[in-house]
Amino acid sequence: MNHRRIPAVLLALALPAATLAVGSAESAGAAPPKKPTARGTGGAVSSVDPYATRVGLRVLRRGGNAVDAAVATAAALGVTEPYSAGIGGGGYFVVYDAKTGRVRTIDGRETAPRTMPRNAFIDPKTGEPYPFTPELVTSGVSVGTPGTPATWQRALDRWGSWSLAEALAPATRIAREGFRVDRTFRQQTLDNQERFEAFRSTKRLFLRGGDAPRVGSTFRNRDLARTYDLIARRGTDAFYEGRLARQIVRAVRKPPKTRSTTLPVPRGHLTTRDLKRYRTVDGRATQVAYRGYRVHGMPPSSSGGSTVGEALNILEGTNLRRLDRTAALHHYLEASALAFADRAEYVGDPRFTRVPLKHLLSQRFARERACLIDPARAMAKPTAAGNVRSYDGKCGAAPARAAAAEDTENVSTTNLTVVDRWGNVVEYTLTIEQTGGSGIVVPGRGFLLNNELTDFSTVYDADDPNRIQPGKRPRSSMSPTIVTKRGKPVLALGSPGGSTIITTVLQMLINRLDLGMSLPQAIAAPRAAQRNTANVTAEPAFLQRYGDALTAYGHTLVPAGDAFTSAAEIGAATAIGIRGRRLTAVAEPERRGGGAAGVVRPFRG
Ligand code: GLU
Repeated sequence: MNHRRIPAVLLALALPAATLAVGSAESAGAAPPKKPTARGTGGAVSSVDPYATRVGLRVLRRGGNAVDAAVATAAALGVTEPYSAGIGGGGYFVVYDAKTGRVRTIDGRETAPRTMPRNAFIDPKTGEPYPFTPELVTSGVSVGTPGTPATWQRALDRWGSWSLAEALAPATRIAREGFRVDRTFRQQTLDNQERFEAFRSTKRLFLRGGDAPRVGSTFRNRDLARTYDLIARRGTDAFYEGRLARQIVRAVRKPPKTRSTTLPVPRGHLTTRDLKRYRTVDGRATQVAYRGYRVHGMPPSSSGGSTVGEALNILEGTNLRRLDRTAALHHYLEASALAFADRAEYVGDPRFTRVPLKHLLSQRFARERACLIDPARAMAKPTAAGNVRSYDGKCGAAPARAAAAEDTENVSTTNLTVVDRWGNVVEYTLTIEQTGGSGIVVPGRGFLLNNELTDFSTVYDADDPNRIQPGKRPRSSMSPTIVTKRGKPVLALGSPGGSTIITTVLQMLINRLDLGMSLPQAIAAPRAAQRNTANVTAEPAFLQRYGDALTAYGHTLVPAGDAFTSAAEIGAATAIGIRGRRLTAVAEPERRGGGAAGVVRPFRG
């Protein structure tokens, strides 16, 4: 990584300038223009939001590197996409360091409180598991110790050239001066109205005057600006210790409910000790070889790298390019189901459960799993996990046990991709889990707390790698991915979408590496997700185009969408393609209202 350590005194001088440069234009007038594709040189940023992408590009133009820009962009997303991500949540940061040629990771996932009992998700009144909605989703009991502020600091410490104060400055400005509300923001607020009305602090911030912010109005979050200022001045200790930490704990243990709400809102277990003891985890990316590339992903506690990697290994033996499109998609769906079966059986937080990562990513294991794919017929789902303890790469192996837990992850989160002029790459997925997280805004602090612990299995089973344990990280599906060829990065991508993150990333990789699509086409193409369940969820355009043909294979396709959102979409990806100095930044053309891609020096025309 290109360390451009700036002496403290220069930094202090530079700070007001940086603040000024990103200043008033951010708030006044129309929102920055957004484009789903941008081509050029000198660095690139892609995110779902035009303000955030602009912040990232300005950091790059001012000499910051990809990590500086990624942190600044993420901080801006905490302002403009507060229902998807922010300092009340967690995420996974993946970096290709141009200096060493290595891909390294930071696990900034939320942790379970140390006093969280194994039956935390069982209602003491009934002895039965809390219903997922609304009890678990809108609760203190699902709030994990946030990892995002610590992730930003850790990333800057390891690779950055800016201080956290510098990286937070542009976002603070946007929070203070406001941003233009778009349709997505209003709709997400309305989707959450009942939950947001349940908390005094949340209602005050997001439902001022009893209504969701109007499209085109300016939304300010001065509380969040003050919180960012505090962290800028006093560092992340001001978040993990002291008054703010105590306020977070209070909001979790005794949520600030409104009198009128009928939502039950179970209380949580977080303590100041949990916050004080929170640590990110440094790691190495997972790796698989695929069609001459190396695909680097996020290791556990995320299941992203292992599940995407295993599915690619399963597909490696089939030349998808030669198959017709439906046959190729059939293989994609089957490989995904098999990899999801193994994910459920084997993947959890490696500090609490032995994850057989080497076996899950072994080509021989994958060959044996691939034998189960009938090229003409969909297998019955759920299908059983493979046996990582005994495999020989040949067909005919006995499965382990059939296990397919109901998938309770929801569709939220945000993702960003940054490349700088030195060739460093950041792929970063961050979340507060559900759109709107737990629904609880920390009073007077301007940010929502996550409900990430809903990613644990609800019912305790001693054999389940994703069972609740104190201090543990719930299994994630986040899949920030960097692809290299001969040691050089060629592509970075990621997406939100709960467990469909895995299928979205997988599908985009296949679209690009196998099916001959350009990067913008690979992202725009209609999506479908097979997560080892009876049904394949699919976007309307996918159903229309491939529904009949895949039904003839025995797949059951149903429209995507969940109880919380009105959209029938899967994912909201960002990506950057790299060809020497030429960069193609890509965001969604349509999904979530379209994303924002930008480059430092655009090509003309
Ligand atoms: N909680 C999910 C995960 O870690 C991400 C949330 C989402 O994208 O909906 O996999």
